[in-house]
Order: sequence, then structure tokens, then C-alpha cells
Amino acid sequence: MQRAEDKHVKEVVLVSACLLGLPTRHDGADRRREEVVRMSARCLLVPFCPEQAGGLPTPRDAAEITTGDGRDVLDGSARVVSMAGADVTDNYRRGGQMAARLAELTAARRALLKEGSPACGVTRIRRDGRDVPGCGVTTALLRRKGVAVEGVE
Ligand code: SF4
Repeated sequence: MQRAEDKHVKEVVLVSACLLGLPTRHDGADRRREEVVRMSARCLLVPFCPEQAGGLPTPRDAAEITTGDGRDVLDGSARVVSMAGADVTDNYRRGGQMAARLAELTAARRALLKEGSPACGVTRIRRDGRDVPGCGVTTALLRRKGVAVEGVE
């Protein structure tokens, strides 16, 4: 039964931590976006960095998906490799699984993620220093769990 106060419960939105100003990027910087921070007035924003959650340090080497995109990483036909040549595929899979678990725990049905990242990219990722169409590993997994993912530049 719905209680009277339930209509005042804020929508829960999973957000790339760097978009909220947390210094989680591979280079130790953030990508704070004021329009995302302002959403806290009407939504419960849950910051999350799948690269950190997957066990990678900050700062860390940038990484790229070798072929295809995050869906191929989940399906086992692509890897994620750092600029130094380390295979970090398992870290990216683990980070995506933790994001999916967090979405489940908080009942988040929506996520705002940073474009271009091999974890968080929504419509584009980077390969060989260029933008290519595709999504990151966390985005791919959240979508498979039914979470609506929107990209933020
Ligand atoms: Fe931001 Fe996602 Fe990269 Fe973490 S993995 S720094 S949240 S874009």
C-alpha cells in the first residue's frame, strides 16, 4: 500500500562520481558538471566510480576497450587494456557488477554517466586516441539490468 509520504520520496539516480566533482578520474581530476550537481535539489544522487570500485587505483593509467564496446567485454569477446599494456578487464567487469548491485540496493532505475569512458561511456568510447561509437562496460551491464542510462559530456 502506498503511504501518503511516498510521493515525496526523491527519484534515485546513479551518477558517475567525477560528474559530481569527486576526483576519481584516471588522472586524479574530476569532471564536475553544474547541471548534474543541481539535480540534487530534486533527486537523490548516488555517486559511483566503477573503475575505483573495480579495484583500480587513482591516479591510474587510462585504458581502452580493444574491439567493439562494453557489451563485447561482458560477452568475453573483447578486453580492456591500459595504456601500459595491463589487462584490466576483470576490474571493469567487477566495477560494472558493483554498479548494478548498487542500483538494485538503492532501487535506482536511472543513471547519468560520463561519456567517453571505457566504463561509463554511453554513446561513445575512446580507441587509439579517437572517439568511436559504443558504450562502456558499466553502461552495458546497467542496461542489461533495465536501468535507463543517459550520457553527460
Ligand atoms: Fe568518472 Fe566513470 Fe571514469 Fe570513474 S570510471 S572517473 S565515474 S568516468
